[in-house]
Amino acid sequence: MQQYSTDTIAAVATPLGSGGVAVIRISGQNAFSCADLFFQPVRGSLPSQMQGYTCSYGYFINQNHEILDDVVLTAFRNPHSYTGEDVVEISCHGGRFLSQKILRTILTCPDVRLAEAGEFTKRAFLNGKLSLTQAEAVADLISASGENAVRYARTLRDGATFRKISEFSNLILEMLSDLAVWADYPDEDIPGVDADTLEAKMQHLLSDMNQLMSSYDYGRILREGLHTVIAGKPNVGKSTLFNALSGCERSIVTDIAGTTRDVVEEQIRLGDVILRLSDTAGVHDTADKVEQIGVERSLSSLEQADLVLAVFDMSVPLSDEDKLLIEKLPEDKTIIVYNKSDKSLPDFGADFHFSPVETVEISAKNQDNLSELQNAVERFANRHATPAEDGMIANERQRVCLENALSAVQEALDALSMGLAFDAVTVSLDAAADALLQLTGERVTDKVVDTVFSRFCVGK
Ligand code: GDP
Repeated sequence: MQQYSTDTIAAVATPLGSGGVAVIRISGQNAFSCADLFFQPVRGSLPSQMQGYTCSYGYFINQNHEILDDVVLTAFRNPHSYTGEDVVEISCHGGRFLSQKILRTILTCPDVRLAEAGEFTKRAFLNGKLSLTQAEAVADLISASGENAVRYARTLRDGATFRKISEFSNLILEMLSDLAVWADYPDEDIPGVDADTLEAKMQHLLSDMNQLMSSYDYGRILREGLHTVIAGKPNVGKSTLFNALSGCERSIVTDIAGTTRDVVEEQIRLGDVILRLSDTAGVHDTADKVEQIGVERSLSSLEQADLVLAVFDMSVPLSDEDKLLIEKLPEDKTIIVYNKSDKSLPDFGADFHFSPVETVEISAKNQDNLSELQNAVERFANRHATPAEDGMIANERQRVCLENALSAVQEALDALSMGLAFDAVTVSLDAAADALLQLTGERVTDKVVDTVFSRFCVGK
């Protein structure tokens, strides 16, 4: 496990730019002696005499004893701080120049250097304040863009995934000790230690692990949003819908069929869901060469999409082109959007055999019923939501670790059912436990730790 040097680190913890307040954070064994050099309390004692979790109002002075700003200093005593070390936070008036000037002054203290990206959180991890999954959730919290994303990141930051993985690890340890007892006393009739019980425990573990694995897709939706395709033949109102959803005139809207020729990508928020929206060329038979390219791209984007909004013009009967599109639509991820509900309706003839996720009638032009579409999309996005308290596989690193643990448990199960020696079962269960320790960061290489924290911003 990586050890860090004893030096003290400092950085501006708030975004660079103008604001009401900026916070400069110092962490490490010299945090208080450094603060003593530059902080003059208006009343009360120097920072090194302050109790943890207390604040003091005073002046920040530079090496020439000039006042740079009036500030509030907050003291945190190790181990009761974010990093687990002595921490001083200085809240000064916001503004890039002032906060940088204060930081530069702090960096003249002996053994104080600028923090690297994510180094405060890395120290929290190295000091045992956070597991690696919790630290990763801190990064997710910072970049979260929606209420659900924030709620999940907060629960994971509080250790939901760590607790879930610990349950798995404990079960594996229990099985390993059963195996040891069994190997040592093969002829004894020890209750709870036999092949059937072990097999049942492994099956149970596999099912719980698979359940946690299934949270990965929902996590991806929270982080990245839904890759969404708006499909439909020319002139049904795809561009109009796209523009209504994105709130700006990005695609070309025209009465001439087939004018939307390329895939335009736009990221928009619909309620609490981020849609990565592609306005594609219409899916239809065409002799037009340029359009043909767009159509082929459309069909492959239907396959790759998380969600398809299939648009039909409900003011005219369904055409063969519409029916061709219906054949290509993936049922389990399609919301049918009947557009132009404002026009007089003929016998629409929606007598096709297709079970979309939902069906919504709207007028994209008048922006009627878009809230209905929003509800349908939110229901779709949340259909595989797992309770945040059950933990979540939040990124590729965690997914690979859990995948390794899963296949190791499966190997142990296979070895058991093939009647192989207990040693083989033990080796596989050991491998599973190891993969889980890597997931939580309890056994992890320096390189992995460095990669995780390089995602953070400086100051966190
Ligand atoms: P696209 O080819 O599928 O992208 O279709 P467009 O968005 O370019 O729309 C084609 C025509 O239908 C335009 O004249 C739009 O103004 C019109 N249109 C789109 N949505 C509606 C709607 O809800 N009601 C009515 N009456 N016309 C619409």
